[in-house]
Amino acid sequence: MKKILVSNDDGIHAEGLKVLAKALESVGEVYVVAPDRERSAASHSLTLHRPLRVTRISERAYAVDGTPTDCINLAVNGILHFTPDLVVSGINRGGNLGDDITYSGTVSAAMEGTLLGIPSFAVSLVVDYEEECDFTEAAGFAVRLASYVLERGLPRDTLLNVNVPNRGDIKGYRITKQGKRIYGEAVVEKVDPRGKKYYWIGANSTRWHDDEDTDFKAIDEGFISVTPIHLDLTNYASLEELKRSLIL
Ligand code: MN
Repeated sequence: MKKILVSNDDGIHAEGLKVLAKALESVGEVYVVAPDRERSAASHSLTLHRPLRVTRISERAYAVDGTPTDCINLAVNGILHFTPDLVVSGINRGGNLGDDITYSGTVSAAMEGTLLGIPSFAVSLVVDYEEECDFTEAAGFAVRLASYVLERGLPRDTLLNVNVPNRGDIKGYRITKQGKRIYGEAVVEKVDPRGKKYYWIGANSTRWHDDEDTDFKAIDEGFISVTPIHLDLTNYASLEELKRSLIL
């Protein structure tokens, strides 16, 4: 039986993770290694300056007091005594669209899987803060995608970033490119009870550049978005250009 490692950045008690892990049982043996609390926007950080503690929650579930990246790294190199066939991260409560992926702990868990040579994808449900979540469609899609990836694999150094609209009448899915958010004034400045200023990084702007084929556009039009993300960040066009033009 295929072995699937599931993680997230909303923490091991998050509903999205529970729904995902349960749904994936239909395509393989599921192991959960996830942060013991919410680590959203933890990015691809690895904990190097303190020990990591692991708590076994059940036969195939472990909570780690670290980041999503720590979880995948520890699972593969320490906790599990085998290499999983697939890593699935999610289902995140909130979209990971466009530039969000550079901050996302959800996507980073899939990045870590990819760096370790395991086919990986991340799934996020696009919701507003207060909105009621329905993970059913996202979990169903994750199961279908998991069977595809288990059978066909993924290109080298490539993960899939999946975003699912939070609605019942989803029109289908689109293969998309990473979109671009239009940044607004997201930082809130306030004064604390002792008269000292503090800042709070607020919500992202909901506006985005209206390009064709982007993740934003697919979601906006009611489709699931599947973006292949390449972990070789080299800009090859720029590489050639710099070789020709950079003389210092
Ligand atoms: Mn999250």
